[in-house]
Amino acid sequence: MIARVEPLTTARALRGPFDYRLGEAHTGVGVGSVLVVPFGRRRVLGVVTSVASESDLAPERLVEPLSALEADVPAPLVSLGLWVAEEYCSTPARGLALVLAPGTGTGSGKPLRARRSLLATLTPAGHEATEHPRRLGARQLAALRALAGGPMRAAAVVRTAGCDHAGLRRLEERGLVWLEDTAEPSRRPKLAEVGARQGARRLTAAQRDALAEVTAGLDAPAHEREPLLLHGVTGSGKTEVYLRAVEETLARGRSAIVLVPEIALTPQTAGRVVERFGDRVAVLHSALTARERYDEWGRLRRGDALVCVGPRSAVFAPLEKLGLIVVDEEHDPSYKQEGDPRYDARRVAERRAAQEGALLLAGTATPRPEAWHSMRRLSLPERVDGRALPAVEVVSSLEATGALHPRTRDALEEVRRREEKAIVLLNRRGWSNFLSCRTCARAWGCPECDVTLVLHRSAGRVSCHHCGHAESVPGACPDCGSVSIARHGAGTEQLGDELEDLVHPLPVVRLDTDSAAATGVGPLLERFEREPAGVLVGTQMVAKGHDFPDVTLGVVLDADATLRFPDFRAEERTFALVCQLAGRSGRGPRGGKVIVQALEPGARALRHAALHDSEGFTAGELERRRALRYPPFGNLIRVVCSAAEPGPEQAAAEAVRERLVAMPGATVLGPAPLFRRQGRERSQLVVKATERAPTIEAVRHAVDEVASDRTYGQANFAVDVDPQ
Ligand code: ADP
Ligand code: ZN
Ligand code: ZN
Repeated sequence: MIARVEPLTTARALRGPFDYRLGEAHTGVGVGSVLVVPFGRRRVLGVVTSVASESDLAPERLVEPLSALEADVPAPLVSLGLWVAEEYCSTPARGLALVLAPGTGTGSGKPLRARRSLLATLTPAGHEATEHPRRLGARQLAALRALAGGPMRAAAVVRTAGCDHAGLRRLEERGLVWLEDTAEPSRRPKLAEVGARQGARRLTAAQRDALAEVTAGLDAPAHEREPLLLHGVTGSGKTEVYLRAVEETLARGRSAIVLVPEIALTPQTAGRVVERFGDRVAVLHSALTARERYDEWGRLRRGDALVCVGPRSAVFAPLEKLGLIVVDEEHDPSYKQEGDPRYDARRVAERRAAQEGALLLAGTATPRPEAWHSMRRLSLPERVDGRALPAVEVVSSLEATGALHPRTRDALEEVRRREEKAIVLLNRRGWSNFLSCRTCARAWGCPECDVTLVLHRSAGRVSCHHCGHAESVPGACPDCGSVSIARHGAGTEQLGDELEDLVHPLPVVRLDTDSAAATGVGPLLERFEREPAGVLVGTQMVAKGHDFPDVTLGVVLDADATLRFPDFRAEERTFALVCQLAGRSGRGPRGGKVIVQALEPGARALRHAALHDSEGFTAGELERRRALRYPPFGNLIRVVCSAAEPGPEQAAAEAVRERLVAMPGATVLGPAPLFRRQGRERSQLVVKATERAPTIEAVRHAVDEVASDRTYGQANFAVDVDPQ
């Protein structure tokens, strides 16, 4: 037998598959096996993408694999990985890396960690030595004392006592500890516990109807099965429908995947799945340690767990007999991966569901026009218990004094008086947007990017939000020496400060990447939940699917800031953000309201958001997109060329453009300069086309051609299919 093997190497030029002969030692090898193979003078890891009975190569040129890794993947995932590589203009190795066991890596790195490690146990002599230490270094003694509480993994001893492995070995030689190589118990990751608990309960009529459609979908023959979009207003009980759908799937002897946005940000949905299905669930997310991730993956692969919950990468969970893929909050931008391969988990989910005969169930209060247009819609038009959606008032930022409009101030004042809870959204972190010299007008910018530096007052730094460059807060202007420095524009840090004065003595919890860097998101959300009253203020992180029933006020500041971006998704984003934030308010018996501050209160996205009117907004949006041939009526592919010095990026973009302009049915926009970022000059092309596959193919071809031309050797290329 012959195995066709795709090498897992990052070299773009090296593409397989290459043939290897399977000898008797390799009887278990098939599609999805991960092999160590000789490759020229090296040995590399590779994935078997197909098997054949003969090869085009002469028999004497065929060699055998050296060994096979324990963790292989189901065959359908191999085709899924290869499809991703094609669809997103990446390499087979990068596509396949997505579906392999965590830690397998691409090529050179060492594969899969052993799941064994040293366990250290104190001997009786060791106990004795903790009381009467003799000839022991401080760290060795600390290690013995740590072990007095019970056996520990050697790595943990190193961490807590600072005594390294060699130190432990010396203690072993002296008979003070035993060291033993043992299997580690698989560690189940813990989720932060926030948000209202829920047990199984009686479904509302709307939930029942939706579930009936879902079960009909599960039972339908493959060719009749359609992807479903659960459009349910915020607080309508979508999660309960997902949970029942999973239950029905398991009852049919099949497995399920539940995709959620970043788990750290919204641990709630994942928590509910775990609560409902216990040990049958595996959680896969990036905050886990490598071993936890590997262990969870193994439970799925062996079928010990039948439900996988996780962010976008969980769409590649190694489950067999897949029956259902749920995509919760399908509008969430985190479903798109920003690095190569730039895949969209929603699209991959659709592909995988179709390929494996599973049902796709996506849900949200604010569907993307793409989903609205192409999926069969189920609706949950009301909140559970018939609670009203909060009234939304849109006011003009121009009437604000400082950051807050008088109406907003009054509403917060009322929250303080009545000891309630509010959530305030301002999508800008830091203290001030930028600094300038009052004397010579110098503005503080990033040396690597063409953007201004943001003041973070408590950290005592100004920093770049694009590359992380940071400097200490300037005391004087380096150009003219003036000490008079102006601060412009307020961010969440300053707003948090202002709110503390306003609602004193109620606590103010700030949630943004700065405050989360110290403690993680979980503890901040837990604190807000625990307090009987208070304000949660922060960036778009506060608008995610949190379910805090006692929030009575939602506020959005500078709501149309997102509309000022030159992007065809600006309206969709603004609408979703305002609707989602509004959805956090009034989930309990006290009801709630929402105030939105904007420069242009009459903007279409805001008008519809104020009425919670997805249908009206999406209808208008689809009309506009049809006219402009934007998704879902056309496909966009973005090509970004970059270079260290100005010039080559532009030339490269021109060259790619030249190769694409003649393509029928496609329009090429640009090259247009993008702002310099991380020290790289950038130029962008956008290809708009009706035909998807041929356009992707043509762009790939054009970019490969230009990239391999020495004339453009100074330039780098990034292709993004369906840019967000
Ligand atoms: P959504 O995801 O649609 O915004 P959730 O799933 O968070 O809404 O549900 C909102 C709240 O309603 C949750 O606290 C949930 O426990 C509760 N809930 C869901 N279904 C029911 C039901 N059938 N009866 C009573 N409460 C429910
Ligand atoms: Zn100056
Ligand atoms: Zn920068």
